[in-house]
Amino acid sequence: MPPRAAKPTPLAASSDGATAAARPPGRGPDGRKAPAAGKGAGAKKGAKPGKPAAGKGRDDLFAKLGLTRLEDFALHLPIRYEDETRAYPAGQAPLGAPVVVEGRVADVNVQYRPRRQLVVKLIGSGGREAWLRFLNFYGSQTQQFETARDNGRLVRAFGEVRPGFFGPELVHPRIRVVDDGEALPDRLTPVYPTTAGISQPVLRKRIAVALTALRQAGGFAETLPEAVRADLGLPSLDEALTLLHAPPPEDDFAAQLEELSDRHHPAWRRVQFDELLAQQLCLRRAHAARRAKDSPALTGAPTLTDALLRRLPFALTGAQRRVWDEIAADLAQGHPMQRLLQGDVGSGKTVIGALAALRAIESGYQAAFMAPTEILAEQHYKKLRDWLDPLGIEVLWLTGSLKPKAKREMQARAGTDGQLVVGTHALIQDGVEFARLGVAIVDEQHRFGVAQRLALKQKGGNPHQLMMSATPIPRTLAMTYYADLDVSVIDELPPGRTPIRTKLISDARRDEVIAAVDGACEGGRQAYWVCPLIEESEALQLQTAVDTFEHLKTDLPHRRIGLVHGRLKADEKAAVMAAFAAHELDVLVATTVIEVGVDVPNASLMVIEHAERFGLSQLHQLRGRVGRGAAESACVLLFGHPLSETARARLKVIFENTDGFAIAREDLHLRGPGEFIGHRQSGVPMLRYADLERDTDLVDAARDTAAWLIAHAPTTADAHLLRWLGGRADLLKV
Ligand code: ADP
Ligand code: MG
Repeated sequence: MPPRAAKPTPLAASSDGATAAARPPGRGPDGRKAPAAGKGAGAKKGAKPGKPAAGKGRDDLFAKLGLTRLEDFALHLPIRYEDETRAYPAGQAPLGAPVVVEGRVADVNVQYRPRRQLVVKLIGSGGREAWLRFLNFYGSQTQQFETARDNGRLVRAFGEVRPGFFGPELVHPRIRVVDDGEALPDRLTPVYPTTAGISQPVLRKRIAVALTALRQAGGFAETLPEAVRADLGLPSLDEALTLLHAPPPEDDFAAQLEELSDRHHPAWRRVQFDELLAQQLCLRRAHAARRAKDSPALTGAPTLTDALLRRLPFALTGAQRRVWDEIAADLAQGHPMQRLLQGDVGSGKTVIGALAALRAIESGYQAAFMAPTEILAEQHYKKLRDWLDPLGIEVLWLTGSLKPKAKREMQARAGTDGQLVVGTHALIQDGVEFARLGVAIVDEQHRFGVAQRLALKQKGGNPHQLMMSATPIPRTLAMTYYADLDVSVIDELPPGRTPIRTKLISDARRDEVIAAVDGACEGGRQAYWVCPLIEESEALQLQTAVDTFEHLKTDLPHRRIGLVHGRLKADEKAAVMAAFAAHELDVLVATTVIEVGVDVPNASLMVIEHAERFGLSQLHQLRGRVGRGAAESACVLLFGHPLSETARARLKVIFENTDGFAIAREDLHLRGPGEFIGHRQSGVPMLRYADLERDTDLVDAARDTAAWLIAHAPTTADAHLLRWLGGRADLLKV
């Protein structure tokens, strides 16, 4: 365990914090991903690390962990365990694993080399020695050891034993001074996901109190049908929780730990099943609620949709035709469609959105078409105008950056005779009231937050919703993230695309890359140059983009080079994008503002600087900006040194895969579902314990059980939902 640098650790209290800090947040002892709540551990704002919160402040911190009711505490389960049930005499403990080392203080020393530290020598019952080392310490700690030494008391130190300079040593162990013969705990010590300001002892105590209170109030009423429990061999919830919160030690601790952290133990399976059942119940309830709402049935004669299909310069692919049939059938129903259209980058989702809009218009309703950025919204606006002008449909434009007068005018049109409004989320916010909104189309849906989705939902008249996303979410995952969503997939690219070649090139070979850009331009093609993502500082990111732009201008003086970044005004951005699309620019230097949706078929080369800083889906999206025309396209991923292991793994994935679904799956493996979309996107509370891919047998059983409970025991279904979701059930409405 590496020493903790920051603050002195008070004795006895929270050196658990130090144990947890030795490991990346959210990871279990073996580096495996921990349940969602562990994710932000130690990194949360607001709480002062190391300073235990009290009273109201502490309740707020608990609430942040999702812990408000007794049940929440009871269902907050350990990420791992420590074994304090056996103690080794000093000098006789095994190396490398955290254990309790016991001995009497022989020596207390404050040393100053190489830096100030407290070193304590313990002598074990066998006469051998071990050293405790504290790199940050309080005077009271020194005193405590001196008193223990003077009174000959026994010290128990918990920590990882490592070979030190003098012999075995523990750095920043957790300390207890005890009487001779004081019993050791008879259960393993649970380590919970927590957040800064809440120490393990505090959390442990609250959880123990909650469990006792719940048992005194009658325990956990069984919500599973007996037959299901018997079939799956599941213990009762009480048995499962008792075991998971405080497992009695087995002889082989390592094997026991492995069994528990594998999560195949029947106790874990019970918890996983319960959680999956709650999810299934929640999906069914949301579905029923949606079916109970009235929406306009879009059943007009297909005059406009047919006209667009006839006029398009291409025929729909088979996959596009299939998803359009699914969507049109939904739109004809009298309750709101809520459908996610997934299709890889370049698979042709926009035209499907256009068809949905026309379906509303030809049925006498309005349509709204939204994109997450102005650049993308603008591009849709232009494309839709190209397609719909000839059909006599006026396309309106509404974004946050419009002048107040123009905005008011557009809002007025939306409230009256406007047929199709394209824009950013300003469309659903800023007091726009549609007169007869039939369908809302949301492009790059994953970029919109819950607040925006809620705003859309709260629009009057229950418009149908078509959400489009190129971040492919595996079907099972989609189910986890959205309360109730149908999914259509375009699993085929339009014909005539040439595959994109991906190259991984070290930063050191930048000159060759610049030459390649020049070559592409020479051949009449265009190139993107994407500047590195600098998450900490937008200003720095902007500066880098400007620098790159200047350098490229110097290196390629005969090429027309443009620059686009997030700080430009909307019309400036639009002007640069338009110039690039019209081939008035050869090279476009850009920050990630071009990430989504931008469509310039003549661009055949994409250079991404410091590709290792980007996420997988981002890289895939960026790469998808090329390979949109017939020309052979390439994507160059420039990487800096040194590459971390995860960065290397990410780049390997993007190098080896072109299929967005495969990439999403790998992404999921590398990052874990919690970070895949982000908690706030979640419509259904995240699964904390179950894993849809690992626990497929439980998923199936949970689905059947949910159907059965709703039909035969609705009050039990309610009780189960309440237990597992409690206050979070309001999330379902999003
Ligand atoms: P995405 O799914 O990434 O949003 P787009 O809708 O931008 O993809 O489509 C990518 C490009 O493919 C556009 O230029 C679009 O006009 C074109 N396209 C769409 N469908 C077809 C098709 N069936 N045949 C040929 N080209 C198509
Ligand atoms: Mg698109």
